Amino acid sequence: MNLSPVQTITIGQRISRQEQGLVMALPFDLPDHVADLTVSLHPTWTPPYVVDFGLADPHRIRGWSGGARTHCYIGPQQATPGYLSGALDRGTWSVLLGLYRLPPEPLNIEVTISWRQFLPQWVKGDLHVHTLHSDGAWTVDETLDRVLDAGLDFVALSDHNTQSQNLAPHKQSSLVVIPAMEWTTYRGHANIFGIADPLPDWRVNTIDDLDRKMERAVSLGAYVCINHPFDSSQPGISWDWGFDRPTWIEVWNGPWRPSNQAAVDWWQSQLREGRHLVAVSGSDTHGPGTLVHHGQPTTWVFASALDGASILSAINEGHAFMTYDPHGPELRMHCGRYLIGDIATGPDSRILDIELHGVSPQDRIRLISQRGVDMEALITTTAWHMRYPIDSQNFIRVEIHRYHDDWEFWMPTLISNPIYFV
Ligand SMILES: [Zn+2]
Repeated sequence: MNLSPVQTITIGQRISRQEQGLVMALPFDLPDHVADLTVSLHPTWTPPYVVDFGLADPHRIRGWSGGARTHCYIGPQQATPGYLSGALDRGTWSVLLGLYRLPPEPLNIEVTISWRQFLPQWVKGDLHVHTLHSDGAWTVDETLDRVLDAGLDFVALSDHNTQSQNLAPHKQSSLVVIPAMEWTTYRGHANIFGIADPLPDWRVNTIDDLDRKMERAVSLGAYVCINHPFDSSQPGISWDWGFDRPTWIEVWNGPWRPSNQAAVDWWQSQLREGRHLVAVSGSDTHGPGTLVHHGQPTTWVFASALDGASILSAINEGHAFMTYDPHGPELRMHCGRYLIGDIATGPDSRILDIELHGVSPQDRIRLISQRGVDMEALITTTAWHMRYPIDSQNFIRVEIHRYHDDWEFWMPTLISNPIYFV
């Protein structure tokens, strides 16, 4: 993970015996995108005197140790016992001092506060995974272990029409676990991301039910994604509720197959008409098998922080591309300060910069615009860099195709979201 160097501040406070019995707050300001926080109190007193210790974030008391500790750590997934892990919001925090038993003479109290900031970076994950909470084979912990082994940074637990996987306790690790639910109707499936309990009643019998419930989930802050929209391998799993709602589209579901190509073709037709639709992928892994594995495919996201809200909001901006598996290749595409998903304007929108790492010689790169394939080339190195002039394209997206010997056919190894031009 890409973190800033540790930044440390020290705050001091002189306290006197008259203040015994108070809980004192020593405020300090935390900047944006803090990845983890450590606070240490340096005792200058000895028993029987006691100064209790705790921490408040801008909204609530975040943890309390009494006299048992003089040190605490808080990260997005892990924290010292007695403290709540989770988002480290920017704003005024306070070290809390419980002035329980003070010596007669004044005390000089010193507290050291250290943090590291998350630097915006590409993170990768799987947005479509099932567990034992619906028709998957593995418990939540077993699933998380496998996802970590695949080398991923985040996962969405998208069990069918249930939220118990989101509410179940699970082991703490560096993996970001995004609450999700695969809303499974008899006329198609949609993932709802970001809210642990988005639909207490998921039943849909009419289009009005669908619209009302989708609006409710979105109003709670959820993001909705239509899954495997053209998969007709089983009845009722392709999307039959219309495509006019502002949702993401899962264009790459599990192993590459004609229903994925149909989704990409449909997405391309919408982009050509001027819609800005975010495309994502998901493995739809349910259990052991030869073809379907966590992270196949993988969705890469340029996130401002390593937490579910930042990852989902970056996807919603289109700052995402998809690859065959967690190993890449990796794409860096920008037009001046604009990146994938952005609308590039002005002088910064004339030259598109494309950098690829981890490609194989013999891969083929295609730049696709509203005109179709705008440019196609054979890749000759494992690191590829090109600059491409923009004239009248409304958007450009990238596809890398690779010949797979074991399958004996060409298939995508990378599909990006577009960068748009006006
Ligand atoms: Zn499904």
